[in-house]
Amino acid sequence: MTRESFELSEASTSVVALLLRPQLSHANAQVTVGDNRIGQYNVISKLKEGIKDPARYPLPPNTQRQELERYRDRLPKAREYIIQHGLNEIFGAPDAPIGIITHGTVFNTVMRVLANLGLADEDGVRDPAISVLQLNVVYPLCDEQIIDFIKDKREVLLVEEGQPDLMEQQIRAMLHQRGVATPFHGHDLIPGVGELVPGRVLPALAQFMARLLPDRAEAIGATANGYVERQKLAATLFPKPVTPRPPTFCTGCPERPVFSMMKINEMLTGQKDWHATDVGCYGMAGLAPFHMADSNIGMGGGLAAATALSAISEQKNVSVVGDGTLWHSALNTCVVNGLYNKQDATYLVLDNKWTAMTGAHENPNSGPQLTGQASGGVFNIERTFKGLGVKHVEKANPYHFRDFQKKLKKIQADPNPQLRVLISEAECQLQRQRTVKPMRAKAIAEGKRTEVERLGVDEEVCVGDHSCMRVNGCPSLTLEESPNTLKTAPVAAIDTTCVGCGVCGEIAHAAQLCPSFHKVTVVRNASRFERFMQRLSERLLPALRAA
Ligand code: SF4
Ligand code: SF4
Repeated sequence: MTRESFELSEASTSVVALLLRPQLSHANAQVTVGDNRIGQYNVISKLKEGIKDPARYPLPPNTQRQELERYRDRLPKAREYIIQHGLNEIFGAPDAPIGIITHGTVFNTVMRVLANLGLADEDGVRDPAISVLQLNVVYPLCDEQIIDFIKDKREVLLVEEGQPDLMEQQIRAMLHQRGVATPFHGHDLIPGVGELVPGRVLPALAQFMARLLPDRAEAIGATANGYVERQKLAATLFPKPVTPRPPTFCTGCPERPVFSMMKINEMLTGQKDWHATDVGCYGMAGLAPFHMADSNIGMGGGLAAATALSAISEQKNVSVVGDGTLWHSALNTCVVNGLYNKQDATYLVLDNKWTAMTGAHENPNSGPQLTGQASGGVFNIERTFKGLGVKHVEKANPYHFRDFQKKLKKIQADPNPQLRVLISEAECQLQRQRTVKPMRAKAIAEGKRTEVERLGVDEEVCVGDHSCMRVNGCPSLTLEESPNTLKTAPVAAIDTTCVGCGVCGEIAHAAQLCPSFHKVTVVRNASRFERFMQRLSERLLPALRAA
């Protein structure tokens, strides 16, 4: 579909948006890929001069002409291309009496439900009475194709996801204009809002099919009821609801301790600030266990969104931004705006050296460009803020818990109504592990000595108060039954994915003095002396314990 999208764009002189949904990652399919095509113009084969076309400028009177072209030429050309190249697909016999129209990934759900009802299998529609029109292109709709599909059918059901129901409205208008009387259903049967997962489509599809296929109504009804009964049974097999697992920061993420410290400060002082955040990994601070996003607006807009609030509210506001977002847009939209308008706010800059959430892209803070070449500027966040006139700038490493907490308290206690900046500087842990792990594996394979630090919890000492977890949320930190039968609460446990950042131990200590944590250094290819000492302690320790 990627190639077809480009070709459709060329054929219709239009922008084509190709929607890729995360549901695709749950699908198995054979994908045919082609070779990459080198662009006509590129960094080697350069354009001699830009090609000007004033008629394309979005200014009147061009805009009126462009609108005319759009409806007279471009959309008809797009429809022609869609039909000629079969971008929409029909499954089953086109002249089958019962029709279903689907779109996007809803098709997969419909086919799965039809298969559950015994009407389809992995090769497609199995029942000769049914055909499915899959609209891979939802705009523009190809009127003639849709009318041809519907006009001679007994009944047609559109399975459209989401609101507003634009496809249903358009198709109903087409049928009305052309006087097609085929009974047509949509959201009168299909749930109107929310994702169309199989459990929500099955009752509607079963009802529709059982009515139109009376000879199989009993079997379809039995299958649908069986599905509902199995769901009820599954619910009874779980004595308690499954604990929700919201998205959270990666194991050892340097952003986690920042929110942990803010949460601990909030718990200790009782002062609740307004947290204005935006789009980045730090947006997950809005979920458990932090709940620290009172507003969340488009990339790089957090601080700006709190500008008006800071002027009319007595509550202090704290905004968070990542380094990628800062360079991308926030420097202008937030910082310049905040300084110009004398905004009274605390601005936390999470400098993790990568634009992390979208897959670790280089940004001006990463150092070299994507190509590995040196960048063309000097990008220093602290100097940039000071250069713009921010008077109070602090910088700290979030893994150095105490130092960071001291600076956080200092900046939040600053009584001056001004923009105050605290820069948290530590590399994205996910990206760090991507670099460190292969290097470590290579060193181990070469017989070199390596060390990995991990934290552990002494299950005998842990009292099960879970202060290490309540303001942490590290995926490597979990619960285990206590080996001590006198303790009823489960104790904390750390699994082998721990990267030894030390944050849980620090949090437990900061929230409540906790002696349960210990640090372990795992040594591979240990030296002879280390191995000798290990053997010695293995012999001596049992004797010492017995003494
Ligand atoms: S990708 Fe990096 S910054 Fe984002 S949550 Fe993971 S470790 Fe943290
Ligand atoms: S030390 Fe604690 S917070 Fe850090 S990665 Fe290990 S379990 Fe997670």
